[in-house]
Amino acid sequence: MKVLVINCGSSSLKYQLFNMDTEEALAQGLVERIGLEGARLKHETPSTDKKVIEQPMENHRVALKSVLEALVNETYGALKSLDEIDAVGHRVVHAGEKYSESVVITDDVMDALKECIELAPLHNPPNIMGIEAIQELLPKVTNVGVFDTAFHQTIPKEAYIYPLPYEYYEEYGVRKYGFHGTSHRYVSKRASEMMGKDLKDLKLVTCHLGNGASLAAVKNGKSVATSMGFTPLEGLVMGTRCGDLDPAIVTFIMNKKGLSPLEMDTVMNKKSGVLGISGVSSDFRDIEDAAAEGNERAQLALMAFDLRVKKYIAAYAAVMGGVDGIIFTAGLGENSIDNRQAIMEGLDFLGAKLDIEKNKVRGKETFVNTDDSKVKIMVIPTNEELMIARDTKELV
Ligand code: ADP
Repeated sequence: MKVLVINCGSSSLKYQLFNMDTEEALAQGLVERIGLEGARLKHETPSTDKKVIEQPMENHRVALKSVLEALVNETYGALKSLDEIDAVGHRVVHAGEKYSESVVITDDVMDALKECIELAPLHNPPNIMGIEAIQELLPKVTNVGVFDTAFHQTIPKEAYIYPLPYEYYEEYGVRKYGFHGTSHRYVSKRASEMMGKDLKDLKLVTCHLGNGASLAAVKNGKSVATSMGFTPLEGLVMGTRCGDLDPAIVTFIMNKKGLSPLEMDTVMNKKSGVLGISGVSSDFRDIEDAAAEGNERAQLALMAFDLRVKKYIAAYAAVMGGVDGIIFTAGLGENSIDNRQAIMEGLDFLGAKLDIEKNKVRGKETFVNTDDSKVKIMVIPTNEELMIARDTKELV
């Protein structure tokens, strides 16, 4: 069975084609600058070099058409015919409160996703465009939606309700939803396999630390707490997002600087986080370099980031009444030796001891705890695409 996985962003589109009999990736690629000048498709297969195709792509439909053409290209493609694609799995950011699992896309599902546009104005429209384009280009294929919010629908009400007038929840759906669910689900499953234990018997803290970053408490296989909220702005210090704040700061700065709600939103989403503190970059590699050269604000940004991750790990151990495993994933979690070390420092009291030597690893699935650590500490590269392909296979 062959499954195509699609992840549409506002001006980009990532894809991966899987042979689900072996879970092997047959092709993958990325379209950038959709609707802009200089649009290009980067496509590769395990047996061919990366192919870059530059051509105007005014919308996601045109971009997907180019992807499908690349997939059946005689020299660098991976399929003889598009009929070989059995199903398409779509990453969709927001499914509100309606879906707690992946679903086959029907008209009702499309209506529900459109209703969620207000909750995810930047993410859901391109996701919806991607689904509509495939429905048009591959009309016989089954489409499956895999939602970032779905895994966190098991969070109990006392954890997802905000202490605001209750009618905001009832009228506008203002509550914690949580994101990165597919990644938290994937790494918690892998962790249980690595530990040789059933997910149902485990208390895990999963740390997805990328440009966007979130933690989840996964108890008995279910998300019971997560750091992102109504939007992906809540929680950790991120590349450009502020995470948790005293909410009074928002109106204070708006008054002082005369900012509109939209301008304040941009400050918190695009100009804050480690970029805001350091003034150097939103990329942790640049900040680590600047910090190593003695830049004090870069050092401060990293310390603020690490401290908040540490706080959430300990808080989630408390939420679950203990912790058996801590997992690091995504760009920074998989690669940054120094940040993992700084985050784990002082968490011995939880029974979690990092092995400094074993921790000297990047992008590899492995244990990094000492032999006498009660808590397993793991680095697990995330694979959201494979998770989406598995869900798609199961539903089809
Ligand atoms: P997203 O998908 O949210 O854009 P990623 O999971 O790709 O994010 O992570 C990107 C982040 O990971 C960047 O800030 C990058 O600096 C960081 N990162 C990647 N490799 C390393 C590394 N070797 N050391 C430190 N940080 C790294």
